[in-house]
Amino acid sequence: MFGLSANLAVRACARVGANRKTAKLKDKPVKEFKPTSADYDARIFSFREKDWTVSLTLMNGREHIKIDAGNYQRGKLKGRKPTSAQLCKHRDGNYYIHIQIKDEAPEPIKSTNVIGVDFGRRDIAVTSNGDKWDGKQINDVRDKFSRVRTSLQKKATKGIRSTRRRARQILQRLSGKERRYQQWLNHNISKSIIQDALKNNAALAIEDLTGIRERTNQKPRNKTERRRSNSWSFYQLRFFLEYKGIQFGVEVIAVPPAWTSQTCHQCLHVGLRSDKRFKCTNEACSWSGDADFNGAKNIATIGAVFVNQPRGSNCLCCELSTDSSGLLKSLRSPLAGA
Ligand SMILES: [Zn+2]
Repeated sequence: MFGLSANLAVRACARVGANRKTAKLKDKPVKEFKPTSADYDARIFSFREKDWTVSLTLMNGREHIKIDAGNYQRGKLKGRKPTSAQLCKHRDGNYYIHIQIKDEAPEPIKSTNVIGVDFGRRDIAVTSNGDKWDGKQINDVRDKFSRVRTSLQKKATKGIRSTRRRARQILQRLSGKERRYQQWLNHNISKSIIQDALKNNAALAIEDLTGIRERTNQKPRNKTERRRSNSWSFYQLRFFLEYKGIQFGVEVIAVPPAWTSQTCHQCLHVGLRSDKRFKCTNEACSWSGDADFNGAKNIATIGAVFVNQPRGSNCLCCELSTDSSGLLKSLRSPLAGA
């Protein structure tokens, strides 16, 4: 019906099938497919390094096409035999090919040393080593985006027709810019956290992020703060950390977040958290300092309990996630041992 070769037809069916399956899970029916990309596997795609061409099965048979690759892409493709790709038609009218390269993940480093990472409200991330990604500058940039957006949204609803259209165009461009800024920053943060772990021969412990939105929204509740905590993509940061961890052989452990922000990392008593500060209410201890740093320390401690457990046993995990008093007990044991 469409004049596709058998292999191309197979790929098209597989693409539709996979998309419908995902859509079913999300309960969002697929209405239509835009003819902007096609999947290629080893039967209909190959890459040739000697003249930097890809061979693709197209509507009129197999064709060799020279690719316009930059140095970064050439470095990645050198000596490789990729077996899958997507051919995409971008909005600029040009065709791009996305080539997948598969790597064996290195064995994760076995370590009892754990660095905790707390994803905070004011700061994007704080580690138990004391490294901090200050949210101030980031928030300034994002506030600027937000102000411009608000003013454009006004223009997009009022004003004459050409003004409205222009405002909508700028809004769209802006959302891409902000998204790319966030992605760039999350890549940077995750990269330096992973490098820090490699340098210290350590595993990473992060919070299980389910519910971070509720938690960061507890206090203060003003509109600006709420927008900031809702709009920062902690899920993306966590995802970047996890896949870079696999790539570089750094173990990334997710620990339940209960109590990590209320407990004093020195004496394990429940203390007071007010905004950025944490103060221990135990008179014998009375530690006070950065609340996110305290959280990161606690996350590292729980992470250390995990890595020192015999592998493959999930009993501690269940205990931690279901019983908060159990958490305090397990927190105590490694410290008592030390
Ligand atoms: Zn204390």
